[in-house]
Amino acid sequence: MIVMKFGGTSVGTGERIAGVARIAGRVLTERGTPPVVVVSAMSGVTDGLVRAATTAASGDTHTYQLIRDELALRHEQAIGDCGIDSELARGLKAEIETLLNWFENLCHSISTLGELTPRGLDAVSALGERLSARLTTAALLSQGIKAHLVEATEVIVTDNAFGAASPLIAETTAKAQEILLPLIEQGVVPVVTGFIGATVEGIPTTLGRGGSDYSATILGSCLPAREVWIWTDVDGIMTADPRIVPDARTVERISYAEVAELSYFGAKVLHPKTIEPVARRGIPVRVLNARRPDHPGTLVCANGAPEPVVKAITAIRNLSLISVEGSGMQGVPGVAGRAFMAVARSNASILMITQSSSEQNICFVVRTVDSPAVVQAVKAEFELEMLHQDIDRVASQDDVAIMAVVGAGMKGVPGIAARVFSALANVGINIISIAQGSSEYNLSLVVVQKDVDEAVRATHREFALDRIAQ
Ligand code: ADP
Ligand code: ASP
Ligand code: MG
Repeated sequence: MIVMKFGGTSVGTGERIAGVARIAGRVLTERGTPPVVVVSAMSGVTDGLVRAATTAASGDTHTYQLIRDELALRHEQAIGDCGIDSELARGLKAEIETLLNWFENLCHSISTLGELTPRGLDAVSALGERLSARLTTAALLSQGIKAHLVEATEVIVTDNAFGAASPLIAETTAKAQEILLPLIEQGVVPVVTGFIGATVEGIPTTLGRGGSDYSATILGSCLPAREVWIWTDVDGIMTADPRIVPDARTVERISYAEVAELSYFGAKVLHPKTIEPVARRGIPVRVLNARRPDHPGTLVCANGAPEPVVKAITAIRNLSLISVEGSGMQGVPGVAGRAFMAVARSNASILMITQSSSEQNICFVVRTVDSPAVVQAVKAEFELEMLHQDIDRVASQDDVAIMAVVGAGMKGVPGIAARVFSALANVGINIISIAQGSSEYNLSLVVVQKDVDEAVRATHREFALDRIAQ
């Protein structure tokens, strides 16, 4: 059985939802087994929901009502456009009305309280998938395909890290098998809300923005599925973001490890945690274009092709480079360890670390949203050293980005870094800092944010990624 996830643009209009139903129907006919369909919210809907909740918390009682009206209009229009039977459409409209009333009441309570908890935000932002999954189920039924809506709160059991929850695998496996397998055995396509889970107590959580990819691989690994297919709006995983590099090409085959690096370093095509559940079980993932279902897309599996040396280039933005500097740091053991413990206490994660060989400077990169708390925590840790001037400065340089050059074939091949440096030098881009993971799958460079797009394009040209058959 296949678990298939359709992203926001793939369910972005009524016509597209009808297309999703056709793809699912085709897979059912060809394989004789219904796929499990996981859907995202219609594109832009989650952003609107987050805006509704945050504006409500600041006392604005107008914006969430406007968003409610927009949601009603958009979903009603989609019902009209995806060929849903009139009988089904009537019931669906009533259901949507009920959900939107619930949303309005929740936003009203948030505005009265004047406070938005992460738990409250998850409850609101989960609505988009609850709406789109209902439309997709009705579109399937209207095309004569047996289908059943499944709320992921009934299936994906998570911890209570609201906004970025992690699945509890044993509990999720039991529920997924109990709820989804009987449907599949009866020839029914389960349509599951992406992005959402619930705690053991049943409180709704979300898996983080873009998390529907992760929902699909969690279910794929728990059932287990033969393969997981991620249907999106481009022809698979490409050598770079096609919005930045127009001549980027599809990578035909890539390993779990390489994709994990790409998604961690900003390739939005997959949520950073997507690969984790499937890599553990060796389940292949295909990334496909819902607008061009016959394009082969990308196969992600344990052994990607070793060639070419550089597979793809990605960038992650809105970062800060934190530096801890001081001549008194030299030869003093434990400075780096204490700095990183302080970062951990502020709940931030470090994306990259470098240290100068003189040991007078430790630099690491965090997200800019985390930077003030990180600087404060590191300063507090080294209060005494700063007083004695062993450490002179803890500073944050904002508006930086990391460009990551990824490819398993880079291992042991000399000169890759030199080629990247000269490609950047040729277009006048200064490299602030560099790091290479010990796996040698990834060479990461920090540049100022305004240079990062050009840096990606220059590196893409240097390795001729627009021409090499992938
Ligand atoms: P979905 O709504 O289907 O989840 P996303 O917008 O989350 O789609 O992800 C797809 C987008 O990811 C593409 O439109 C593309 O702009 C972007 N992207 C970034 N890096 C890459 C890459 N290396 N390969 C393909 N797409 C990429
Ligand atoms: N709808 C959610 C988001 O916009 C999840 C997803 O699209 O994968 O973040
Ligand atoms: Mg996505």
